[in-house]
Order: sequence, then C-alpha cells, then structure tokens
Amino acid sequence: MTEQLALPLEGLSPRPSTVGLPRRQRVYVNRNLQMGNIEWVGFDMDYTLAIYDQQAMDRLSIEVTAQKLVERGYPSWVTNVPYDPHYPIRGLLIDKKLGHVVKMDRYKSVGKAYRGFRALPRDQVQKLYHAIKHRAPTSRYHFVDTLYALSEVAIHAGLIDAFDARGEQVDQAKLFTDIREAIDEAHRDGSVPTEIATHLDRYLARDDMLGATLHKLRSAGKKLFLLTNSRRTYTDTLMRHLLGTATTEYPTWRHYFDMIVVGAGKPGFFQEHRPFMERVHEDRDESHLRPAQNLERGRVYEGGNLHDFERMLGITGDRVLYVGDHIYGDILRSKKESAWRTLMIIQEMDVEVEAHDACTEALRHHEELEERRARLEDELRFHQARFKEAQRQVDLLSPTSKTRTGTAMDGAVGARLAKEHEADRQREKRAVERVRALLREIEVETREIEQRIDQSFHPYWGSLLKEGVETSSFGDQVEEYACLYTSRVSNLFHYSPLQTFRSPRDLMPHEL
Ligand SMILES: [Mg+2]
Repeated sequence: MTEQLALPLEGLSPRPSTVGLPRRQRVYVNRNLQMGNIEWVGFDMDYTLAIYDQQAMDRLSIEVTAQKLVERGYPSWVTNVPYDPHYPIRGLLIDKKLGHVVKMDRYKSVGKAYRGFRALPRDQVQKLYHAIKHRAPTSRYHFVDTLYALSEVAIHAGLIDAFDARGEQVDQAKLFTDIREAIDEAHRDGSVPTEIATHLDRYLARDDMLGATLHKLRSAGKKLFLLTNSRRTYTDTLMRHLLGTATTEYPTWRHYFDMIVVGAGKPGFFQEHRPFMERVHEDRDESHLRPAQNLERGRVYEGGNLHDFERMLGITGDRVLYVGDHIYGDILRSKKESAWRTLMIIQEMDVEVEAHDACTEALRHHEELEERRARLEDELRFHQARFKEAQRQVDLLSPTSKTRTGTAMDGAVGARLAKEHEADRQREKRAVERVRALLREIEVETREIEQRIDQSFHPYWGSLLKEGVETSSFGDQVEEYACLYTSRVSNLFHYSPLQTFRSPRDLMPHEL
C-alpha cells in the first residue's frame, strides 16, 4: 500500500534518502543507527503519537490552574492576569529563589534571564549568575523539560509580573510550588483529561500519515509496541481518534501493536521492578487486575518494568528503537538503564528549522564578525607587544632611568633615538586605540545580529537547541541521549525501514 524509497547501497552513498527531502521531514542523527538491526519499535503516546495543539493545551492548563490557585487562597484577580502561552519554551529553568526564569547553555552558563516578562540587563545576569556554578535540578532550580510543563512557566511569569505591577510581595519559592501542585491536581482529578477527551479535535492534531508509517514498519517485519504513562481509558480514547479508521488489516488501533502497556510509570518503568498487571476480563472496565504471567499480543497491560518486558518478549535491548518526547522519562532514562536506541520527537523542530533557514544570511554574517574579531584580537596583541617594547626603550633612554648604561648614547644620538622610540610608542598607542575601537564596533554589531537571530526563533528565548553560539542545556541533552530526533513520527515514512542513519558529526575537533 505504501511506496517505498529505493534502498541505499550499503557503504556507497551515505545519506541517500535525505537528498531532496524537505528539512522539516527529515530525521536528524546524533548517533549512527541501522534500522535493519532494529526488531522492535516502541512508542510513547502523549506528545509522540498524539501531537497536541500546544497553544490550546496551554490555554486550558492555565485556565484550570488559575482557578485552582484561587481555591488555594490566592486573590481572585489571578484568573484575570493576561498570561502569554507563547512565552515559555522547553529547557528553561525556574530560579525559585529569585523568581526568575533563565536559559542556560551546555556549560550551565546563564545566557538569558527574565523576571516576569522583563529581560534582566546583561550586567545583572552577569552579577547574579556568572560567578556560581549551577547544577540543575537543585532545590533552587526547576528544569522545565516537557511540553506538558510549559504552562507552569507561563503562569509563573504572568503572576510574578502581576504581583510586581501591583507592588505586592509574594513568597516566590512557594508560588512556584503552588503552581506545580495546582497543575498536577488538575490532571489528577480529571479536569484536564476529561476536557481533552470530550473535545479531541480541539486539542489533538491528527496526522494522516501515522497509520501508513506504522504499517510500513510492520510490513518490513518490525514489531511495534506502545508504552505510555497514560491510563487505559484515556489511551483508548486518544488512540481510537488517532488510528481508529478501521481497515481490513487494522480493524482497531490495537492491531497496529504487538504489545501495549499503559500506566507504565516511566521513568520508574526503567528503574524499578513493578509487575505487569492485566485485567481478568480484558474488555470489562470494572474487571479487576491480576499479575500477568506472560505478555500476549492483543491484550493491554498496566505497570510493568524493563527487565520483565525484555525477558518475557525475548527482546535484546539494542534491537529496540524507542520513540518518545520526554527527554528524561523516555530518552535519558531508557538510555541509561537499557541498551534501547532512541528517537526523540521534538515538535518544535519545524519552527527551529524554518528559523534557521530564515537567518542563514545573518548566521553567515555572524560567523564573519567572529572571524574578524579573532583577527583584530591578534592585531591588538601585536600592537600591545610593540607598544610595550617602545615603552621599555623610552624608559631606558630616559635621563632618570636607573638602568641607563654607558655614555656612548649620550648627546645627540641618544636624543634622536629617544625621539624615535617615543614616536614608535605614540604610533603603537594609536594603533591599539584604533583596534580597540573596531572591536567595540564589532561587539555592538554582533549583539545586534545575535538579537536579530534570536528574534527569528523565539521573541523571548531565541533558539530551543542553541544559546548564543553554544548548544543550549536542552540541546545538549538531546545531543547526548537521543540517537535520532525529528518533529513527528510520520517522518519515518520517508525513510526505508532498512535505512542506515548516519551522524554528520563523526569527527572530534582535533580531527577536523
Ligand atoms: Mg510523552
């Protein structure tokens, strides 16, 4: 049913199928992976198979949370604050002590910081954050690493801004804890899931290629599994919406999968040893649970753990590719506790790639400026050395110099030499000043261009995966733990199920 791309000839053509493939449809590679070696492909559900409309989700989450905060004793105006769901991105940190939101690079250096919607000036960022080594997560910093948690940041910034504008004091550390608890409560008591389940079209983006993509993998002999933290009923409602169009081969969404695990409790699934549970009567909601003796296709299991999963299914870890969106729960934990290979779904990649393309010119200019800066810094050191030498000569010939030796230099010759050295000294001094002025100009121009580049990615935070010229702390985790990354599951459709994914970054700096 699906058209398959020509198979690459092994070893002859490194990345054949990405030629001509639009960048937003590509799978990006951190670590080489041969799909031919993969026997099982597993999927998380929320934000992986199920792509939510982020703005709609955030608005819902903000509304319900603000209401819960009022119930917790916050003033009633909290529900009327103009929250901005566009404000947060993944990878930010909440500084609970100071009530700031910050973005760090891979070296944990803070590049940007906001209080509410107000950017802190550079010198303040420097003063507050550059002198200390930050290790997150700590009790002071909360790392925002999921799309689910973005609304926490939007509410936090909105409320800090509103309290500041009113000149009212608020316990900043407690404020964030209260927001977190209110959001968790909204999910736990069913307020959020019920609203989503009753208005699926409002909150979920349906991907028409999803079924075809899963089918393509299955046709190539891969076994598929679903491993989600969501509960049984919610999972069934969403999956029916996403894959529910019945075909002869797939009468229900369950037929796409060889194994289905709900309420998996990741990251605990990878670390702990809870049993797999099954319903005594599979299709009766009220049926009670019992520990599963084995895992069978067609049934839905709850809980479970990595060890039993691999043992009962006879799976070898490095033959599994797990597809998820959660850097900690799906990607980092599975990588650290198992040999599973990972594909991270980063739905922001579309914006990221588009912005990157839009500022190619600016990025090139930025690189030129960096090169010019390096050349000028060399020039500066050269003139500084010459200036110092001329200064030394001038001092030596000075009538008051203690190191002045001999008498041969006295008189007219000495005076002439002294004059020449003084002229040298003046010339080098002017050269140093001239280069310094040029460096200052470059500094200003570089900052302007960096701001322009940042703006094309995100009005507050710039790029998701970069911070200035460095990789962002979030980008660093993606690079370290995700073998592959792409914006949506259906991008796999554009590749052969036997594709060899090759990383462009096989070289270390000393090998370049
Ligand atoms: Mg997820």
